[in-house]
Amino acid sequence: MTDETEADLTGGVPQRRAKPALEAIGTRKLSPATRMMGHGYDPMLSEGSLKPPIFLTSTFVFPNAAAGKRHFEGVTGKRPGGADGLVYSRFNGPNQEILEDRLGVWEEAEDALAFSSGMSAIATLFLAMVQPGDTIVHSGPLYAATETLIARILGKFGVKWLDFPAGATRAEIDAVMEQAKGQGRVALIYLESPANPTNALVDIEAVAASRDAIFGDAEEKPPIAIDNTFLGPLWQQPLRHGADLVVYSLTKYAGGHSDLVAGGVLGTKAHINTIRSMRNTIGTICDPHTAWMLLRSLETLELRMSRAGENAAKVCAFLDGHPKVERVGYLGFLEKQDDARQADIYRRHCIGAGSTFSLFLQGGEVESFAFLDALKIAKLAVSLGGTETLASHPAGMTHLSVPDARKAALGITDNLVRISIGVEDAGDLIADFEQALAAI
Ligand SMILES: *Cc1c(COP(=O)(O)O)cnc(C)c1O
Repeated sequence: MTDETEADLTGGVPQRRAKPALEAIGTRKLSPATRMMGHGYDPMLSEGSLKPPIFLTSTFVFPNAAAGKRHFEGVTGKRPGGADGLVYSRFNGPNQEILEDRLGVWEEAEDALAFSSGMSAIATLFLAMVQPGDTIVHSGPLYAATETLIARILGKFGVKWLDFPAGATRAEIDAVMEQAKGQGRVALIYLESPANPTNALVDIEAVAASRDAIFGDAEEKPPIAIDNTFLGPLWQQPLRHGADLVVYSLTKYAGGHSDLVAGGVLGTKAHINTIRSMRNTIGTICDPHTAWMLLRSLETLELRMSRAGENAAKVCAFLDGHPKVERVGYLGFLEKQDDARQADIYRRHCIGAGSTFSLFLQGGEVESFAFLDALKIAKLAVSLGGTETLASHPAGMTHLSVPDARKAALGITDNLVRISIGVEDAGDLIADFEQALAAI
């Protein structure tokens, strides 16, 4: 909402102008954590209200008829650049606009869009990009619903896909890209890193180099989009490593309190405008109340994620080497676990190890269930990135319907417990895990 509106272009009623965004003090560039408290909102345009009001309205009044026509020229694409100002709440609203401005700040994205869920963000991205006969190249595994969307739903409309394993080398990625290019138009390269639930990292830089080498001269280079839900925006910023678009389930760390469902897409203006047109058509934007909740969440994003990350490091240090623990699949242990390829990707792409990890217990389902049922602080629930610690059993819950052979290939074993560490006291969490391990 800080953009200088072009109110006078139509000779209409001059609109009040928002104060320009504060991005620096002298030569000091302000950090995203600071900018979350004010960016994109001018209290003086809302009766001095320190916090943005929730704008519950389905439509917006035009200053005059010519301005109304100009708005629709933008929305329908007759004039490039999208809607100029607010028109109708399926397209956008004040709360969602502030949210989009602030989401972009963390990764210095050119533009951002908010959605009603992570999956509606991903589905809108796909619908905007693909045509029948196209191929989507993706890393594997992906979030289960994303795999369903690509293989089963887009498949019904004649969209093909090819995948490479998350940890693939440049040569392996090249081979899949070449194969995809050989079968027609490649619409999109879609990554997820770290992958759920294996935590395997994708070499984004290698994917970008491969795309540029293989499609460099093509009229339409396929954009690279990546689901950064597990580490972003604090611990991994893929736009800096060659991705064009970053996708989020804002339900997780960004929302951070396990009390809302939302999604986001960030990236280059041109790609975002393509996706915005699809969102305008199908109405997958989040509602004003959810946007307001997310604005509140973003104010503490750095605090929450930093604390959760520190807690996870302490908890994993305790779990590692415990006699009832077989292995801890935590990004912070890649170096010492001697996985040179993954450790190299981690060093080049990640700023932190996150707070979601895999705990492999000694035993199988019986031991996993005994552990889960004994937890007193950690709650037994799927999802991640909230203030509270959560634990779940992928083989018996989120991945129950995955065929056994694929489960085995992905390492989703019966002794695997997925844990998302929250912002509780680290000592209390360790005490909880200690007593639950003793109960096995
Ligand atoms: C949760 C999640 C999604 C889906 O997001 P929703 O907000 O539940 O629609 C997509 N990708 C990843 C990696 C997730 O963890």
